[in-house]
Amino acid sequence: MAPPLIETTVVGTYPLAPRVQQLVLRADDHTFSHEPGQHVNVRMEADGSPVYRPYSPVSGPGTETLVLAVKRYDNGTCSVWLHERSVGDPVPLMPPSGNLQLRDPTRDALFLATGTGLTPMLSMLTPYLRAEGGHATLLYGERTQADLMYRAMLDRLAATYPSLSVTYVLSGEAWDGPTGHVQDHLAPALDRLDAPHAYACGVPEMVVDTNTALQDAGVPADHILTEGWEEGAVADD
Ligand SMILES: Cc1cc2nc3c(=O)[nH]c(=O)nc-3n(C[C@H](O)[C@H](O)[C@H](O)COP(=O)(O)OP(=O)(O)OC[C@H]3O[C@@H](n4cnc5c(N)ncnc54)[C@H](O)[C@@H]3O)c2cc1C
Repeated sequence: MAPPLIETTVVGTYPLAPRVQQLVLRADDHTFSHEPGQHVNVRMEADGSPVYRPYSPVSGPGTETLVLAVKRYDNGTCSVWLHERSVGDPVPLMPPSGNLQLRDPTRDALFLATGTGLTPMLSMLTPYLRAEGGHATLLYGERTQADLMYRAMLDRLAATYPSLSVTYVLSGEAWDGPTGHVQDHLAPALDRLDAPHAYACGVPEMVVDTNTALQDAGVPADHILTEGWEEGAVADD
């Protein structure tokens, strides 16, 4: 039997980047208990049939609120539907699941993300930093500065926690920071870390390349946790 839906209501929306909308959802009589890094499945109806799509919350567990960051694909089903939700609209969810989870917050960590692959990294970063056990580097790739989500928050976290280093890598704009692909900037990040766990999420090509490069650099396969979902062709629109 399918698990019961979690009924939520939109209580806030906010544009994070040209095609990315933040949605704040509040559940009735439900406290979210996901492991940071896990996703929920949004349920909607299209042409009279149920449609389910996974989204990784930006927010952590322990409250009735869940925060999603959703990129709109113009010919997409659920992403367009979510972008059209307003305050007061219902958004039913399936309970959280998924293998991408923060493992050991006391050891060094390398977080790599492109695009909305940043979302599970954000939910893992907060408990990681609170544990104050190790050093972490976040490599976050986008096309342009305008596409960077949560930059002010990430800069504030890096200023607050000396154990956190954040590097933005742009693939579609010349600037005074790193350019190219995030996986091309692994070596200096690994040099700063001691036997880290590595978490990678975003464009499948990045996830595959990163996995190979990390193992070539000596990171054991079972210390690498990945999830891929964004197509480069669309991210490069
Ligand atoms: C574990 C997991 C977590 C995810 N978390 C997030 C998240 O936090 N935020 C977020 O925005 N998305 C996330 N996604 C992606 C999300 O689940 C949907 O795939 C995405 O929103 C598109 O769904 P759709 O119904 O709008 O498009 P669909 O109706 O499924 O597809 C229609 C068309 O949209 C385009 N399209 C659809 N999906 C993609 C894609 N991934 N890349 C490029 N083009 C695509 C294609 O042209 C496709 O033909 C996650 C995916 C996974 C597997």
